[in-house]
Amino acid sequence: MQDPALHALHTVFGYDRFRAQQEEVIRHLIDGGDALVLMPTGGGKSLCYQIPALVRPGTGIVVSPLIALMQDQVSALLQSGVRAAYLNSTQDAQTAQQVERQLLQGELDLLYVAPERLLTPRTLNLLKRARLALFAIDEAHCVSQWGHDFRPEYHQLTVLHEHFPQVPRIALTATADEPTRKEIIQKLALEEARFFISGFDRPNIRYRVTQKQNAREQLLRFLESEHRGDAGIVYCLSRKKVEETAEWLRAKGWDALPYHAGLSAELRQRHQDRFLKEEGIVMVATIAFGMGIDKPNVRFVAHLDLPKSLEAYYQETGRAGRDGLPADAWMAYGLQDVITLRQMLEASEAGEARKRVERSKLEAMLGYCEVTTCRRQVLLAYFGDERPAPCGNCDTCLEPVETWDGTEAAQMALSCVYRTGQRFGVTHLIEVLQGKDNERIRSLGHQRLSTFGIGKELDAAQWRSVFRQLVALGFLTVDTEGYGSLRLTEACRPVLTGEQRLRLRKESKRPKARSTRRVS
Ligand code: ADP
Ligand code: ZN
Repeated sequence: MQDPALHALHTVFGYDRFRAQQEEVIRHLIDGGDALVLMPTGGGKSLCYQIPALVRPGTGIVVSPLIALMQDQVSALLQSGVRAAYLNSTQDAQTAQQVERQLLQGELDLLYVAPERLLTPRTLNLLKRARLALFAIDEAHCVSQWGHDFRPEYHQLTVLHEHFPQVPRIALTATADEPTRKEIIQKLALEEARFFISGFDRPNIRYRVTQKQNAREQLLRFLESEHRGDAGIVYCLSRKKVEETAEWLRAKGWDALPYHAGLSAELRQRHQDRFLKEEGIVMVATIAFGMGIDKPNVRFVAHLDLPKSLEAYYQETGRAGRDGLPADAWMAYGLQDVITLRQMLEASEAGEARKRVERSKLEAMLGYCEVTTCRRQVLLAYFGDERPAPCGNCDTCLEPVETWDGTEAAQMALSCVYRTGQRFGVTHLIEVLQGKDNERIRSLGHQRLSTFGIGKELDAAQWRSVFRQLVALGFLTVDTEGYGSLRLTEACRPVLTGEQRLRLRKESKRPKARSTRRVS
């Protein structure tokens, strides 16, 4: 006789084989184990609990926060001949009662329940009288207080473990960095669960980060040399910049459309439809654009501003190359991005604990930008997916970064910050280092400082790079009260005393055009 899991895969879902880790997850669950599954959107999470629910005796209970999605899933399952139903607030009492009856009579393979419904004494009582195959907690990152999708009801799902210790539990999510993962494990009592992660790599996407000089011009050069006629998305931080950039690209002959939450719903819909249906549209957008956009041939995603976390970056760039053909994730980034994001973060209403988490997410993002090894390795490692070998398809792999001994330069930069009273931004600091003779410097008396004019050997762009790296490495912080003035941190002491030497990235002067090599 055929294996029951494979049998279900073939006959119910009509697929030939399991993807990545699906099979392992399914076997583990069928054997009664708990699991935490991390797979990106579209990775195939649903089968991981649907098949065990079919194979194990009893009904599989699926906790899902999105009512619309729940209804879609149930109708799709019914069409495949699976006995599925849902319980949520949109139903009338009579329909709900019928579902309850079906459950108790063992007539359901899968039952989808909204979390607030599940937690009512009535439902818990009902479940106690039914035969249960498993609990699947979908979108498990909703337990995370720090996440963008926090749902208080998810916090209470610990009751599942308390009331039903014998029933296996599987938690699934597409977004889970280390802190979120820890929260899921703790809140859902998954200490014993096996951890499965797969499918995060997008090998056809080439990751590149370039230093911002004139970002718009750099973007245009990138588009003209590599993406004529291609569809793509350009992300900007503000609505204003979206408008300006779209207009500017149009003036340069590109079919660019703006998209942000400030536009009317109709206009947004119209632009989105054009992007999906026509070829070669460049959507210039804030992060308001992208949720649920499934256009397979998006050839590039460009960032004119730094995203605030690697999760956001991964999600946004992940909209490129869904068809598996080569695609670019291109970003221009500079010190000003860090200053702006830090200021936004500090000015937000969030509490101190949350700000701390967000600061560390931003730091991870910066670390990614400044990395001198394979970018993909850094990106995947952030999601817990350690890769032993460099990828060969990111900028640092294709053009290894040169480094230089930046110790002396760093010392000059740090002393300059110190001597000027830790009250100035990078432009002024560079003018002092380069010994610029201007009114502002004279009125401040900075021409008399010992650091005045000691840094003539580097040009302004090189100094910017030094300052940026010192911020990314945590030797300087951006004072978010003022206008982006830089301050020393405790960590810079060993650099100032010469105990610690620093190797810094050398910026390549002119980024090479993309090679034509295709990846499989
Ligand atoms: P997720 O919940 O992770 O976003 P889904 O479970 O909705 O992803 O699956 C995404 C798509 O992949 C669906 O269309 C699903 O039918 C398909 N799929 C899942 N597993 C397989 C498989 N083993 N073979 C072929 N297609 C699959
Ligand atoms: Zn690489």
